[in-house]
Amino acid sequence: MIVYGVCKSCHNHLSLNVLAGTRPELSKQIGASISKKCSRCGVTTTFTINQLKAKLSKRIRHAVLEVAIVGVVVLLASYYFLTNTTYIASITALYSLLAIGYVWYTRRNFQVIDTFNRSKA
Ligand SMILES: [Zn+2]
Repeated sequence: MIVYGVCKSCHNHLSLNVLAGTRPELSKQIGASISKKCSRCGVTTTFTINQLKAKLSKRIRHAVLEVAIVGVVVLLASYYFLTNTTYIASITALYSLLAIGYVWYTRRNFQVIDTFNRSKA
């Protein structure tokens, strides 16, 4: 999860290097507000805690995409190159487990993000 504020000038997402599950927690760490200089346009925006939001980190977004791509490739490969159905079944089962794990992990992250975005400082 990434905590970010939106640049008032160019609407770039400015991520903050903080670890907090809720806005009150964040408030304890950084106080009532935080200033951040935009790396794109150079304008400094001051955010109050309630203006900061949480979103899914890039790493997790990429992982979801990777699982989807690997899944399609693995399935296509197994259907084209293998005639042994038991082997195909075990690959599919193994992949399904992996995919379920990722889905669970992503859902957990969405819950954490939702909790943060609903909380008030
Ligand atoms: Zn900007």
